[in-house]
Amino acid sequence: MLKGKAAIITGSTSGIGLGIAEAFAEAGCDVMLNGFGDAAEIETTRSELEAKTGVKVLYNGADMSKPESVAGMVKEAESAFGKVDILVNNAGIQFVSPIDEFPEGKYDAIIAINMSSNWHAIKAALPGMKKRNWGRIINVASAHGLVASPFKSAYVMSKHGAVGLTKTVAMEVAETNITCNAICPGYVRTPLVEGQIDDQAKAHGMSRDEVIRDVLLASQPNKRFVETDELGALAVFLCSDGAKSITGVSIPVDGGWTAH
Ligand code: NAD
Repeated sequence: MLKGKAAIITGSTSGIGLGIAEAFAEAGCDVMLNGFGDAAEIETTRSELEAKTGVKVLYNGADMSKPESVAGMVKEAESAFGKVDILVNNAGIQFVSPIDEFPEGKYDAIIAINMSSNWHAIKAALPGMKKRNWGRIINVASAHGLVASPFKSAYVMSKHGAVGLTKTVAMEVAETNITCNAICPGYVRTPLVEGQIDDQAKAHGMSRDEVIRDVLLASQPNKRFVETDELGALAVFLCSDGAKSITGVSIPVDGGWTAH
């Protein structure tokens, strides 16, 4: 479905980003992975995905909190693939604290990685998309781009910012064949969330199932995690011709959370 296309997926060494990268590669799209982690493990992920799908899979370790590194990653992808057709802004971090105790460094990092990097990456990738008159931009925001929860001030702010950016970019390029949308997941089963289950079970003296149902998924009416392959499938669809009139929207994939 995406044969001949080339994509960058930020924060794709694990979790949702990796799920989207796998779905793109399986759909025939060359992909540039990005993110942190053990160098040998990243190389294994990269080479296995390339061998399994037959597309080109590259890796760039740019730190999304550094605007010049974001631009450098886009430049490297353009020179390696000859173009960047698809940009998925997915890298993100979380920190939970009451606002009056929130560490300033954590606030700055969340805003830089979850929000500002989207702006810098779009700015760098858009000229090439405009030149070829085709592009797909997907910002992985969150249900927290649409509604709030306490103690997540920086995260909720960054994700609402990503949703606002999505609408603005969509309007700016509306007369081209470029679309810009956001995906807003509820709780997704990623290594990050798996870790939280064990921590919370210990902290509350609860079973894993109780933590999943009554703590983590308290706001998610369907009471199950979103899986990364569901997000991969949606991202592939948003990049298809069938989705060419879908732009400027933020699509909840949250089991009914934001229907409250
Ligand atoms: P994850 O921790 O599994 O993956 C995050 C990725 O971002 C990793 O590849 C990590 O190396 C990378 N990353 C972190 N800081 C970076 C930096 N400075 N520069 C480059 N890469 C960096 O997390 P995930 O759950 O897969 O989250 C991915 C995105 O989805 C995030 O934006 C997150 O806010 C969003 N999201 C997650 C959930 C969830 O329940 N897991 C729900 C809604 C939204």
